[in-house]
Amino acid sequence: MLAQRYPLVWGKKKFYIKIFCSIPNIATGILIKAGKNLFAVDPGDGILRDLNNEIGTDKILSISNLFITHGHHDHVGGVWSLLTYMRVMNKKTPLSIHFPKGCVEIESIHNAFKKVYSKTLPYEINLKQINKHTEFTSNNVIIRPFPVIHKEFLNDGKTTRQVPALGYKFTYDGLKICYGGDTAYCDDLVKQAKGSDLAIIEAGHDEDTPDEMHMTLKEAKSIGESAKEYFLVHVPE
Ligand SMILES: [Zn+2]
Ligand SMILES: [Zn+2]
Repeated sequence: MLAQRYPLVWGKKKFYIKIFCSIPNIATGILIKAGKNLFAVDPGDGILRDLNNEIGTDKILSISNLFITHGHHDHVGGVWSLLTYMRVMNKKTPLSIHFPKGCVEIESIHNAFKKVYSKTLPYEINLKQINKHTEFTSNNVIIRPFPVIHKEFLNDGKTTRQVPALGYKFTYDGLKICYGGDTAYCDDLVKQAKGSDLAIIEAGHDEDTPDEMHMTLKEAKSIGESAKEYFLVHVPE
């Protein structure tokens, strides 16, 4: 297991990832560089501040893709400010937003954003709803979305429902980074993490008995150890 203090950084050849933070119920924020490509993954609250410190305005404007694992606020809280910043700073190149089918948070943020700014938007937004778990390529990066198990409580505080949720595996220059997002222990993640050069695995459940929302430390470590290197993230503070 690699170090645990944020930011977490990993890079090999021209493939690099920085996890600014990943704190359950507060915020996540991840930057991926693959050659000249810049991707933001799960842009939670604070992403603009962190990206500004890390890469500055011009490079923020050249971010080509956002990848959203699911709609919980600690993973999408920074989407509005990122979209708005790109508008104010006059982004010209298109932005694709990848998100799981049924993620109403992203659809709603996008609808509200369009409603307010469609007449003054200098760049194109391409919403890419993912409903099949098949590989696709963006500028020489192979992206493999995969389903994960992540539930949330309904109003009664007892009944749960599955949230539209994905993990993503990014492959560039022969190197593989697997990010599970928020997930309970599940076979798809086990399969995708195995043999990856880096696995980013959440350990958000603070008890020993497994549930269907997050993983226990033990579960997360067992998956992380099947990769060449791993980070445990989303550990309650
Ligand atoms: Zn979360
Ligand atoms: Zn979540």
